[in-house]
Order: sequence, then structure tokens, then C-alpha cells
Amino acid sequence: MKVTRTVVETRAAVAALPRPLGFVPTMGAIHAGHLALVDAAEASCAATVASLFVNPAQFGEGEDLADYPRDEARDMRVFAQAGVDVVFVPTADDLYPDGFCTQVRIKSLSEHLEGAVRPVHFEGVALIVTKLFNIVRPDLAFFGRKDAQQLAVVRRLARDLDLGVEVIGVPTVREPDGLALSSRNIHLTADERAVAPDLHRALQAGARAAAAPGSVSADVLAAASRALTPAFTIDYLAVVDADTFEQTDHVTERSLLVAAARLGRTRLLDNVRLSPSAYPERDATARKGA
Ligand code: AMP
Repeated sequence: MKVTRTVVETRAAVAALPRPLGFVPTMGAIHAGHLALVDAAEASCAATVASLFVNPAQFGEGEDLADYPRDEARDMRVFAQAGVDVVFVPTADDLYPDGFCTQVRIKSLSEHLEGAVRPVHFEGVALIVTKLFNIVRPDLAFFGRKDAQQLAVVRRLARDLDLGVEVIGVPTVREPDGLALSSRNIHLTADERAVAPDLHRALQAGARAAAAPGSVSADVLAAASRALTPAFTIDYLAVVDADTFEQTDHVTERSLLVAAARLGRTRLLDNVRLSPSAYPERDATARKGA
């Protein structure tokens, strides 16, 4: 496995790899959720590139940038064992040199829900993903459905800017009790860890309500809210269209039930689809080879 640290080195390393090339961007503290993305890349690509970068541009003031878990040496061992060909570990100075002033803004879609709670977040995500796609030039890029709005933002970005990358959504990997794996879960205390799976249970209660004949979004939200313990401070709980993230009164075949909730100092994100077709793995409207 080759580790690259500069844009120039990375361009040279990826040019030597066979196609199709799969790409898995991460912020490190690698867990089985990240490895599911690597597995999906390896299953459909001739070579796999990962990146490891805690991107300061996607953290707002007062958020957990300094606190974000980091263990580069361990991450490298795990990536190597998983068969990753190249890992790009950039520095902020290389990616955002003095005078950097370009923005990538996705209107509307990135302003709802997660975008409303974390106003600079998706601008930072869109910027880093655009830069990484331009540096690595993958054919396919793999993102977790756990971060459903991020997946929608990246799909929209790739399509709108003709980046020539097909964005693949990979199902959420969970602990046996249903908690979605996340690098931030290590901050949960033992008591918080014990109640954390209730978030997913509440979403499942919402999904069951959605399956009842004639139910509307209000019924789904009521069922999910009833199932949530007071330990959580809810940032949002909503029925949304999986592409636009607009909230809808009615449940459709594109509906997701999404939630963000805080448990102590840890913020948990999760979602379930309310119809089997709500999250196609591949983006049917993406233009390949652009
Ligand atoms: P992060 O390092 O948290 O920025 O995540 C990097 C990628 O891994 C993103 O595409 C996430 O959606 C994805 N990811 C994180 N947790 C999971 C999980 N539990 N299951 C599947 N994908 C995940």
C-alpha cells in the first residue's frame, strides 16, 4: 500500500493504477462502516484509493474539530490489511494554501436539516469532495447511506458539475444492538452507550407506522417520537425526500426518516428508508464518463 501526502505525489500514484478506480474518502478513526465502503470499492473496481483527512472547512466554530478522534498509524494498518492500494493523507496547508478563496455551494438541498444545524458543514464537504475528486479522478466513489444528506449532496455535486464520477451509496453498518457505527461513538459514556441504540429503534418504530395503510408523515413522526427516550436532545426528526431533503407531508417511495440527536456531548445521526426503493445504490440519473 502506498501512502501519499501531497497532491503531486497522489496524482502520480493514481495515474499508475488500473481502471476502474474506486475512491473512499474518510476522516479516519477507521471502523467497520468505512471498511464496508472499501469492500464495495474492491468488489467493483480494479484498484482502490482511500483518503484520510479531518477537513477543517466542514467544522463550524465551537464544533468538535480539535476533539475528533485521530489514530493515523492504526488507520494505515487497517487500510493495508483491507487491500487499499493508495491512501492519500493530505495536509491542510497543501489543500488550502494561503490565499485560498473558492467556495462550492449547493443551494437548497444543503440548507435543510443538517445544513440548518451546521451552516458551514456542507460547503466544506462540497469543497473537499470536489478537490479530492479532481486530485484522485476516480471512476466510482463510495459514500455511506448513514450520512444520507451528505450522500445526496455529493450525488448532486457530481451531477451538476459533470465530475464524471459515479457516486455509490453503501448501506449503514450497525452494532448488533442497532447503533450505527461512527468514529464519534468512542465519546459515549457507558450510560450513553446503553441508550444510544434507542435512536435506531425509534426510527424503526417510525418505519413500522409508515407501513400501516393510509399513514402520513405526521403518524410516522409521532410513532418515532413516542419511542425516543428523554435522554436525547433532538436536533431534527423528519420525513424527507431522499434526493432533495425537502420535508413531505406524505410518505412516498422516495421517503427517508432522518434524525440527528445529541446524547451528552456526542451527536448521533441515523436514518431509515420508508420504502425499499428510497435509496437506490446507484444514481440512475448520473451521466457516466462525463
Ligand atoms: P467519516 O470518516 O465519518 O467522514 O465517514 C467516511 C465515510 O464513511 C462516509 O461516506 C460515511 O457516510 C461512511 N460511514 C461512516 N459510518 C458508516 C457506517 N456505520 N456505515 C456505512 N458507512 C459509514
